[in-house]
Amino acid sequence: MSAAVIKTPIRQLRITDRCDRCGSRAYAQTRSPEGLKLLWCGHHFKLHEPALIEKAHVVEADERELINPMPSPSAN
Ligand SMILES: [Zn+2]
Repeated sequence: MSAAVIKTPIRQLRITDRCDRCGSRAYAQTRSPEGLKLLWCGHHFKLHEPALIEKAHVVEADERELINPMPSPSAN
């Protein structure tokens, strides 16, 4: 048998990365103009995203599409 090539999306955030606000699993990472990296859960990133962009923070990772990766079984 040949080995199957399993492609996984490149994920920058680890399961151990936690939101700096609430401690939930982080799905986004931003960097401030001063170089400060912040981790965000989906909820807090959505909440603070407009302010972060306004303050010229760079979104280094946004993996919110992974929050609910299971497709609906009734998608037929
Ligand atoms: Zn949070």
